[in-house]
Amino acid sequence: MSMIIEDLTILGRAAPDLMKSKMVKTFCVAGYSPSRGFIRVYPTSIDCPMKFWNVVRVPLERNLQDSRFESWKIQGSKSEWDNLDSKIEEIGTYPKKERRQLVFNLVDGCRNDINDAHRSLGIIKPTKIKGYFQEREKISESEQKTLLDFLDIPKPKNHWIKTKAEYQFIPYIKYTCSDCKSKQGYHNQQLLSIEAYEWMRKHPDNLDQLWENFRINDKDYDAYLFIGNQARRRNAFMVISILRFKKSNYSLSRTRPLIPWKKVEKPKS
Ligand SMILES: [Zn+2]
Repeated sequence: MSMIIEDLTILGRAAPDLMKSKMVKTFCVAGYSPSRGFIRVYPTSIDCPMKFWNVVRVPLERNLQDSRFESWKIQGSKSEWDNLDSKIEEIGTYPKKERRQLVFNLVDGCRNDINDAHRSLGIIKPTKIKGYFQEREKISESEQKTLLDFLDIPKPKNHWIKTKAEYQFIPYIKYTCSDCKSKQGYHNQQLLSIEAYEWMRKHPDNLDQLWENFRINDKDYDAYLFIGNQARRRNAFMVISILRFKKSNYSLSRTRPLIPWKKVEKPKS
């Protein structure tokens, strides 16, 4: 099954992973389309125009290794990797003034509601939230030394990119949802956001500043968590990105009709 999606707004981009078959570092991105609901696309390259709040047109096909309803890959991912970025067309950016309203309309009461509905992506507005770092037990040596490190050739321009497994620390978010149904009263999830990992790469001596940058406990800001589960562990959710907005004096409303603001559009069959 394939489709061309015309209206995908990017709401999150995870730090890279190593695709061992090609020895390239790839990114998973996720977002929302008014016509299709939440969508996840991987693998994508560092240079692809699927950046935060960009609206893109992209030809997608099903990923046979991933049966999650929201998961797709770019058409020709396998055979045309070097040419993949040219297939993505940047339509524009989502209007700044309307971003808060979009995210507000997509909020679920609890991570458990998303899980119970067998959805793999959703947005939470936490009431309590705390960020922290945990030391990685073992930094992956196989990931550290990619094939390129052994070859005596000039490194490609994006060689600086580090995969998650190469970092000494893992960022985590502990939070309570607005209508939390968790027995323990909170969720504890890894934060995958490229923003967090780039901060760690550039400021290894000032890690905790990250939480202030994210404004997660700033009373002048609203923070939302864009969360998703894992392909192999459907019950394990992670935070893909932290969306935050300065509070303003215009009010948010749920008066828009549910369609086209519905969260997913399941096939009728
Ligand atoms: Zn919850």
